[in-house]
Amino acid sequence: MNNKQKILLGMIALVLLAVTAFGLVFGKKVLAYLRTWSEGRNKAVIDYIRDPEAHRDWELPALHQCADAPFALPTSGFIGYFYGDSFTPLKLHTGLDIFGGNPVGVTPIYAPYDGFLTRESDWKSSVIIRIPKDPLDPDRQIWVYMTHLADVDGNPLIDDAFPAGTQEKPVKKGDLIGYQGNYSGYPGSPTGIHLHISIVKDDGEGHYLNELQIGNTIDPSAYFGMQLNTDRVDKNVKKPVCLP
Ligand SMILES: [Zn+2]
Repeated sequence: MNNKQKILLGMIALVLLAVTAFGLVFGKKVLAYLRTWSEGRNKAVIDYIRDPEAHRDWELPALHQCADAPFALPTSGFIGYFYGDSFTPLKLHTGLDIFGGNPVGVTPIYAPYDGFLTRESDWKSSVIIRIPKDPLDPDRQIWVYMTHLADVDGNPLIDDAFPAGTQEKPVKKGDLIGYQGNYSGYPGSPTGIHLHISIVKDDGEGHYLNELQIGNTIDPSAYFGMQLNTDRVDKNVKKPVCLP
């Protein structure tokens, strides 16, 4: 082997090492991203947004509830993205995206469970509901975060009962919270009109954790009584059914 070959071999070894290290650290996220594409999730969302009328059979009604499950579905529509999907490279989806197929400000959003609603003073499009006793694990407190309740420029679509700065206002399952919007967090650059909902862990001291990290959130499947974890969802089913 001459020097040139040795250098080439060394370079190949380095690349393999880098790829392996990347795979070990980010493997699950990369696979989730590839799967979200390959299983047609993105295409289904685009198809639905383009022509909701053609896909009304993909939708679930608001307040839909499965037999022994504690939570009611907070809004009507097509569940386009599940827990653990990945539509942004290296990010796993922390909740559900429910697309209502109506214009901004039309599809109502309701509380999925009894709790105490907080809307921080700088929140234009989000609310979080504290549930002191997790109905599936009463020793712990959990939180339900809901967002995209604002229009493209960040004008809130949240009911007047919950102005910015609301702290711990009691809500009952089925109470109107607001309407689906398309605010992405950046004025003028809309997302698709939908509700994002996630179940967020408590830090053990009465505060919610950062919803953006999947490790701080909980698989919503058992709460809604449907298979909503992308690892176990049947990719051919557009409308999840209640688990037996
Ligand atoms: Zn989402």
